[in-house]
Amino acid sequence: PTPDPAAGEQVRADDRAHVFHSWSAQAQIDPLPIAGAQGSWFWDYDGNRYLDLGSQLVNANAGHGHPAIVDAICEQARILPTIAPSFANDKRGELARLIAERAPGDLNKVFFTNAGAEANEHAIRMARVATGRSTVLAMYRSYHGASGTTIGLTGDPRRWRAEPTGNDVARFFGPYPFRSPWNTDSIEAEGVAALNHLRQVVELQGPATIAAIIIETVIGTNGVIVPPPGYLAGVRALCDEYGIVYIADEVMVGFGRLGEWFGVNAFDVTPDLITFAKGVNSGYVPLGGVVIGSRIADHFADTPYPGGLTYSGHPLACAAGVASIRAFEADGVIDRVRTTGGDLIRPTLEKIADNHPSVGEIRGMGFFWAIELVRDSATREGLVPFNASGAAAAPMTELVGAFKERGVWPFTHFNRIHLAPPLVTSDDDLTHAMGVLDEVLDLADRHVV
Ligand code: PLP
Repeated sequence: PTPDPAAGEQVRADDRAHVFHSWSAQAQIDPLPIAGAQGSWFWDYDGNRYLDLGSQLVNANAGHGHPAIVDAICEQARILPTIAPSFANDKRGELARLIAERAPGDLNKVFFTNAGAEANEHAIRMARVATGRSTVLAMYRSYHGASGTTIGLTGDPRRWRAEPTGNDVARFFGPYPFRSPWNTDSIEAEGVAALNHLRQVVELQGPATIAAIIIETVIGTNGVIVPPPGYLAGVRALCDEYGIVYIADEVMVGFGRLGEWFGVNAFDVTPDLITFAKGVNSGYVPLGGVVIGSRIADHFADTPYPGGLTYSGHPLACAAGVASIRAFEADGVIDRVRTTGGDLIRPTLEKIADNHPSVGEIRGMGFFWAIELVRDSATREGLVPFNASGAAAAPMTELVGAFKERGVWPFTHFNRIHLAPPLVTSDDDLTHAMGVLDEVLDLADRHVV
C-alpha cells in the first residue's frame, strides 16, 4: 500500500464531524482511518500494517478481499442485486441448502436476517410463538446483540446502560471452570454443578412458563469459555424434559471458527434453533439467520410466521455466503482450523503461559482462544477489575498499545486477550502473532504481585 496521509486526514475529519459510532462517548474516540486490507492484514493511510488478530469483530473468517467472495458479489450485482423476500432466488435457495446440509439433525430450513441480533430476535419470537410461553433463560457473561430483545438477553455490562427492555428474561450461571460459581475443582465437576444449577433455575422459574434457553455454544466476547463435556447434552435433555426450545447462538462461532461448520457439531448436540451471522460470508455484505429444526418449522407449516424483513435473503449477501462456503470446502479450511488449533496454537500458547506469571489460563479451540490475565496467580484476581475502564484499565490499555506498535491489532475484553484471526491466516503469521504476544506479556508480568 502507498501511504497517503492527506487522504487519511480527510477520512478522519469526515468521521469526527459526522459519524456516530457504536458503544462510544463520541467526543472521546479517535477511530483510525483504514485505507485497505488483504488476507489477514489491514493498513492505514500512513503505511502502517496490522495483523488482524480479532478478524475485525470475529467476522472476517475468510480474511479480507477474498477473491472468490468478491467476484461472487460483483457477478450477482450484475445479474440481480435485489429481489423481495417473497420470491424464490437461486443464491438464496442454494445458500439455505448448503447451510442445512452442514447443520445437525433435522435443522433443514433457514430464515435469513441482516445480522446476529436480528437472528436472535427472530429465534426468540419463533420460540415464544410456537410454545405460547414467554420467559427466556439466558446466561450471565453472554452477548446476544444490541437490539431491544437481544440487549435484554445479553448477560454482560453492555445491557446496564441500555434502555429498559421490558423483556421476560431470567438469568443463570454457565460453567466457568477458571472462576467457578460453585468452587468446583475440575472441568467435569463444573459441568455437573452447572447443570444442577440450571435445573434449579428452571424449576424455580416455572418450567411451563419457559419458552427458550439461549446459549452461545462457546461463550465468545465474554471469555471464550468452552463448555465442559456433557454440559450442552445436559441442556438438551433438560429442554426435552420440559418442552423448552434450545437456541444455540453461533453468531460468533459458526462457520469454521471452532474447526466445525457449526460449533454444536463438536459437542454432539442438536439444538432446536441455531442463529448465525458474521462468518457465514465474513460480513462482506451483512447477513445473519436462524437455522430451524422440524419442531418449530412444523409449527409454522400452516400458521403464518409473524415476522419479516425487506432484505431477508438478500441476493448479494447470499451469493457471498455460497462463495465462502464453497471456498472453505475447496481449500480444506475447516479441517485446517481444527488441526492447527490443536497442533500449533494450543502448544505455543501453553509454552507462553509457562513463561508469564500474568497468564492465569489459556483456553479455546480451533482459531478461538482467550488468554486470561491475572495480578495474582493464587487468588486469580484479574489483571484489571471486571468491567474496568479509564485509569483502572491502564494495564490492558498498555498491552493494546504494545501490540499495535508491533503491527498486531488485538481483540481484548476486560482482563483477556482473545486470539481469533481469519481462518486463512498462515502458520507463519500465527507464529509471528504469538511471538508478539510473548513479548508484550512482559508488560503484564510487571503488575503481578
Ligand atoms: N451473538 C453473539 C454471540 C455475538 O458475538 C454477536 C456479536 O458480536 C451477536 C449475537 C450480535 O450480532 P450483530 O452485531 O451482528 O447484531
